[in-house]
Amino acid sequence: MLSGTCAFCGNQTHFTARTGRRGDTDAEKDHRNFYRYLIEISATCDACQRFNSASGRSRFANRTFNRGHILSAAEAVNEGEAMDIDSWSPPAMRPVDTAFIPDGVAGYFKEAHDAFSIAAYRGVLLLVRSVVEATAKDRGITDGTLVQKINKLDEDGHIRSGTREMAHALRILGNDTAHGDIGDVPTQEDADDALTIARFVLDDVYVADARRADMLERRRPAE
Ligand SMILES: [Zn+2]
Repeated sequence: MLSGTCAFCGNQTHFTARTGRRGDTDAEKDHRNFYRYLIEISATCDACQRFNSASGRSRFANRTFNRGHILSAAEAVNEGEAMDIDSWSPPAMRPVDTAFIPDGVAGYFKEAHDAFSIAAYRGVLLLVRSVVEATAKDRGITDGTLVQKINKLDEDGHIRSGTREMAHALRILGNDTAHGDIGDVPTQEDADDALTIARFVLDDVYVADARRADMLERRRPAE
């Protein structure tokens, strides 16, 4: 099945292969003299019809394609439905819920997720730092280092102390990157943790109370 997450509409969906290309690397041959190729399949999303491309390995089959061969629509369907997909282009953007978060802060948070989607993990850490900086500024905290701002957010009752401890872990994660010292490249796990911490900060500061108020308002008995 040629299925995945559409980069444009975000649906987890099937794609219809339209064309494709055999890559320039060597083919693999099995004991039956069947060939497997690196292929790229361009396909339209069944939900929104936009083009996405899947890269990966074809099945072993009794047919030959020259390097760079452009697949017909029928070949693309045959190959695409049976291929092992390694990656999609554009990459599916990580979805992010920014309800109740002010635009100025949400923009950093959204871009931090986009950076994660393209494995730009230094960017994730820098943008998550910016999320915290912008949140502090929004709450009137503009002086001091990032760690002092995090402490002040806690002292002023905007975040829970557990969140403060997490945010301090983030400061350590992001510190090298912020100062241009990239000897220690953050891992996917570092970046994922940073997004989690940002989520906690934003939930504490903006989302939890707003969601409660929103629900209570909707549940209020009619007068
Ligand atoms: Zn789509």
